Amino acid sequence: MNRDFQLLINGNSRAGSTGQSEPVVNPATGESIGRVAYASPEDLSETVETAARGLREWQAVPPWERGRILKRAADLLRADIEAAALTMSLEQGKPLAEARDEVERSADFLEWGGEQARRISNRIVPSRVAGSRIEIQTHPIGVVAAFTPWNFPMALAAKKFAGALGAGCSIICKPSQETPGSVLVMAKALLEAGVTPSALAVIFGHAAAVSKHLIAAREVAKITFTGSIAIGKRLAAAAGAVMKPVTMELGGHAPVIVCGDVDPEQAADMLVRAKFTNAGQICLCPSRFFVEEGVRERFTARFIEHAKAWRVGSGTDPATQMGPLANARRLEAVARLVDDARARGAAVLAGGQRIGNRGFFYAPTVIVDLPDDAAMLHEEPFGPLAPIIPFSNEKSMLEKANGLEFGLASYIVTNDVHRQQRLADALEYGVVGVNGPLTHRPEAPLGGWKESGIDTEGGIEILDPYHRTKHVSLH
Ligand code: NAD
Repeated sequence: MNRDFQLLINGNSRAGSTGQSEPVVNPATGESIGRVAYASPEDLSETVETAARGLREWQAVPPWERGRILKRAADLLRADIEAAALTMSLEQGKPLAEARDEVERSADFLEWGGEQARRISNRIVPSRVAGSRIEIQTHPIGVVAAFTPWNFPMALAAKKFAGALGAGCSIICKPSQETPGSVLVMAKALLEAGVTPSALAVIFGHAAAVSKHLIAAREVAKITFTGSIAIGKRLAAAAGAVMKPVTMELGGHAPVIVCGDVDPEQAADMLVRAKFTNAGQICLCPSRFFVEEGVRERFTARFIEHAKAWRVGSGTDPATQMGPLANARRLEAVARLVDDARARGAAVLAGGQRIGNRGFFYAPTVIVDLPDDAAMLHEEPFGPLAPIIPFSNEKSMLEKANGLEFGLASYIVTNDVHRQQRLADALEYGVVGVNGPLTHRPEAPLGGWKESGIDTEGGIEILDPYHRTKHVSLH
């Protein structure tokens, strides 16, 4: 396969004006599957001008009709799910079954954003001055600049397209250059469904140069980003300097609390799947396993059994349970965290090494006896690493669980309803999974506490980050 992943501006696919491009690599083979175009500063200025026009044209489309168009886009995505899933698996590495689920989820987000568009309303507040009233109007915030990552290349962009387009905004999306195809597939479905071509652009390029250009552009009113905390802070600071609002969906380092009253094998069976889905490259992924002493041995033994038997391979092989890491950077980062743990005396009981030397495969890994200062207990592992930490004192375990700057996801496994409630109350996280895995679907809002983010995405409030209010006082 050799494909060109081009810029999509005003409904036209084209190369960047300087002709610059970069290879896109299949993480299962390390080989190129095509090239992605780079936008020049001139291309970016043209994109911004087009999006400013797109805002005027798209906000004039009645919300009811916007809802119909987003629903049609969702149906188009679903109708071509196999091709979309293959594109995603080849560029990102995930197994086809996970890719299909992500396409479905993306369609669900688009549909939901369209449904919420139909519920946009203004309200009248009676004034305290007789004969007067105040109209509270809801307006699209303006042109949106969206930066989306490579781990869920379609779904994480779908949340932003659904919110922005549903609200009546135009959107310029800059996906990761490593996974350009998935967003392009979705954007083309949106255009085919009837989104005004000027209201939607997908561009690629040097990430720092693109974000600097778009954040500074006068026409851009809103910044939304999903990715690492470090980059999120940089973008939020740049947006703050020009007083533009941000939505930030950033990293996590999810504690999992496995209590002594549960069946440890059942708990391991459930959590192992949550851990190794998408090779652990999920912001909601369980990443610090606090296991109560009474069940630690059996839980660990079962987890190791699974990790050793987990089928790792190309995402396009239907037998595969876990694909490669998405890029060489992740492989290096994961290897560094495991080396650090070993150097500090931890024991690696499963995995702990790269598999082969073709592609970016890393073995499902289980680690015990970690000292508190091990890097993987502080840095988001974003890979198939399961550190198991025994506990016998709930209070000191909770101090550790809450002790990082992260506040995205957390998990509790216990059948004791009082303990469920006590722990859920104590966890300083934006989302808590009790006795099951977490997947973000559109009907519920989700966002991080502390440094894990600003704002939420999804839920009945999905359009809120893309709206602004006007107060009109009528006398
Ligand atoms: P990174 O920090 O270099 O990049 C993270 C994302 O931001 C990528 O998609 C990248 O294309 C984009 N990016 C980088 N610099 C940018 C800039 N100046 N302007 C706009 N976008 C920019 O890290 P990485 O190696 O790609 O990913 C590793 C880390 O990122 C992980 O450890 C994880 O913490 C985080 N991450 C989080 C999520 C999430 O869902 N919250 C998704 C992907 C990555």
